[in-house]
Amino acid sequence: MPQGATERKPWQYGAAPLWPAAMTAPRFHFSIAATDGKARTGTIRMQRGDIRTPAFMPVGTAATVKAMKPADVRATGADIILGNTYHLMLRPGAERVARLGGLHRFMRWDRPILTDSGGYQVMSLSALTRRSEEGVSFKSHLDGSAHMLSPERSIEIQRLLGSDIVMAFDELVPTTTTVQQQAEAMERSMRWAKRSRDAFDAGGEHAGRAALFGIQQGALDEKLRKASADALLAIGFDGYAVGGLAVGEGQEAMFATLDFAPGQLDPDKPRYLMGVGKPDDIVGAVERGIDMFDCVLPTRSGRNGQAFTRRGPINLRNARFGEDERPLDESCACAVCGQFSRAYLHHLIRAGEILGAMLMTEHNLSFYQGLMEDLRAAIATGTLSSFAADFRAAYHGGGTGD
Ligand SMILES: [Zn+2]
Repeated sequence: MPQGATERKPWQYGAAPLWPAAMTAPRFHFSIAATDGKARTGTIRMQRGDIRTPAFMPVGTAATVKAMKPADVRATGADIILGNTYHLMLRPGAERVARLGGLHRFMRWDRPILTDSGGYQVMSLSALTRRSEEGVSFKSHLDGSAHMLSPERSIEIQRLLGSDIVMAFDELVPTTTTVQQQAEAMERSMRWAKRSRDAFDAGGEHAGRAALFGIQQGALDEKLRKASADALLAIGFDGYAVGGLAVGEGQEAMFATLDFAPGQLDPDKPRYLMGVGKPDDIVGAVERGIDMFDCVLPTRSGRNGQAFTRRGPINLRNARFGEDERPLDESCACAVCGQFSRAYLHHLIRAGEILGAMLMTEHNLSFYQGLMEDLRAAIATGTLSSFAADFRAAYHGGGTGD
């Protein structure tokens, strides 16, 4: 240690306050810089940093974007990441994260974090769920322990985590249920949206520094979607998510719903399409007026050996890449494509090496952020339709990555 240097304990490195000291940025402000058809590009200003839209949020399920250090996630171009309420409430527990200074300090990501409400994972992952007007009781998929999620508890957990964008707690039903069931679930979700709003507003300092999004439901039905939008607009939120899509209905049905659903929401607020999606899903949704996305696809499929390229996805497990010395994507500017060959990645993935998952994830997240950057530039220059046509032609041009 150099003379005069003060010895610091490991836990003092990078220790940050729960909120940044300089409070020059507004709590939440969305400005649209340019539009092209229904598409918009702009900036969300928040206290922990700006979010350029359309934005893609990498998913950090368990307080980590899997296989990536936070600084490397940022280097791909991500302005914001997503954290999962359901996973974090079960392990390590929201109260523990709060005692350790909040999610940002815990995982060393100092930019905005959006947290989901936990409702989707409760339905999809846990056993023995029981729904009532109060909320959803369930048993943990990890150890079978009993838990309860309600609008009030979901908002409390998101506050304990120190979330920047909090999602209202809602009830998800499959698009295959009857219209009557969808209507009842949507109406309950709107009552829960009001309870979420009230719980958020009672949150003290957190309410003064974070934002709350409502979630439109109503499956594929235009009238239900309109009723849901009207109920949310009457309550008032900082942004609005289009929920209940990307649950197996297919791209055609999703786009048909996106032809009307975003237009029913406040045009001056961000619109977030939850859980989407494949690169061509994102391009089509941006054309229909969506501003924000999240999806596990680039990270999960990267770990499974799939790389996204402008000429379609490729599976690096395939034997034909065994002696292919080209980068994953010759048009990609990421650090992985600048250094490593398909042949090397093929070897790492076949051998089950951890570095394979790390490099594939880094490339895939860079690909997604590069796509968002190109979409923002195309909207800004009024060239979105030709960009989208060129993108689709190359992407679906055989899917060989060649
Ligand atoms: Zn790359």
